[in-house]
Amino acid sequence: MSSYGTLFSGMLQEFEGAARLLNLEPGIWQMLTHPKRQIIVSCPVQMDSGEIQVFTGFRVQYNVTLGPAKGGIRYHPDVTLDEVTTLAAWMTWKCAVAQLPFGGGKGGVICDPTKMSKRELEALTRRYTAEIIDAIGPDKDVPAPDVNTNEQVMAWFSDTYSMHVGHTSTAVVTGKPVEMGGSLGRREATGRGAMIVAREAARHLGFSLDGSKVAVQGFGNVGAIGAQLMAEQGAVIIGVTDWKGGVQNPTGLDIPKLQQWVAQHKTVAGFPGGEPLAAADVFTLDAEILMPAALEKQITLDNVHDIKAKLIVEGANGPTTTEAHKILHEKGVFVVPDILANAGGVTTSYFEWVQDRHGYFWTEKEVNERLEAKMCQAFETVLKTALEYNVDMRVAAYIVAIGRVATVTKMRGMYA
Ligand code: GLU
Repeated sequence: MSSYGTLFSGMLQEFEGAARLLNLEPGIWQMLTHPKRQIIVSCPVQMDSGEIQVFTGFRVQYNVTLGPAKGGIRYHPDVTLDEVTTLAAWMTWKCAVAQLPFGGGKGGVICDPTKMSKRELEALTRRYTAEIIDAIGPDKDVPAPDVNTNEQVMAWFSDTYSMHVGHTSTAVVTGKPVEMGGSLGRREATGRGAMIVAREAARHLGFSLDGSKVAVQGFGNVGAIGAQLMAEQGAVIIGVTDWKGGVQNPTGLDIPKLQQWVAQHKTVAGFPGGEPLAAADVFTLDAEILMPAALEKQITLDNVHDIKAKLIVEGANGPTTTEAHKILHEKGVFVVPDILANAGGVTTSYFEWVQDRHGYFWTEKEVNERLEAKMCQAFETVLKTALEYNVDMRVAAYIVAIGRVATVTKMRGMYA
């Protein structure tokens, strides 16, 4: 199929390793390696200049066996159907690992939001929502933020959907502003989940976050909050990079001050609290923990040999190529895979969806306690599976996820 590119092939390789160990039946194997639905839409937008520009958008519902499709929407110039399909597959496995009653979905629009005005972004969001409206809804498919989308984009999405269906629908999307049905703790949830699994993995390996040196690639929602929460646990953040450059300080960067800098300058580069760090050098730093929290395919055969960390926590989706992961495993690096490490975001999205459907909202303490419990439970289950099957954490996470989806697929049986 033309939509299957290199990213999807990588996901299939990860899937196959686990499916073989599970002795997955060929029919179920087929069902779990095909996306259920791929939608491609054209979104015309009147730009501020007066001219009309047509943007291509995607929404993929990879698998909905366990519940409504769930997954974010990303705005990026490099978005492809292959990428969105793969990300939707990863959401399927992520929701299953976290034991959420959701399937997996993902959306994307090919655009460069850094070059668009707020009005243009609003128009694009509303048109994209309208174009996919028949496929979404609280029981069908529930989007959320992803790369370059935020609470404001979710607010426009929710409003557009609500205007179409004729009533306010809060549960159609998660990651909304708290004032309109968002959950307390959602903004911090992916970073918090990453910190929790980093802490649990360090404990398993016999060390602690307190005093550990950490390098972070990406300083968006996941990287910045993950770094901040790890620093609060006593970790020393020695280097951070983003798309424009980086900053390092062997005695530890002041993360709240770095966040203030980024709010003004839109990049960590130039931060006066450290020395410059080339973007590619984040992987070579002398850190115990490395957190890639940017985009896919960042740890590759080109840089994997430079990595000194003994623990990698994948804040991003798909940051490590399959070949590079093999080498990390051989080197004895403990990798907490994306579908476990960044599951905190979608777990709190689940809490948001539950709160919206009940119309009854929890305190931040309740949200964080439930997130802590879910992440620890998922980590323990994957670790136990890794030890039982004598495999790495990525294969183990796939075994857990595929096992859960396959069980329900068989229970439900074949329709027609
Ligand atoms: N975009 C996030 C992810 O990749 C969150 C998805 C969601 O909350 O539905 O996990």
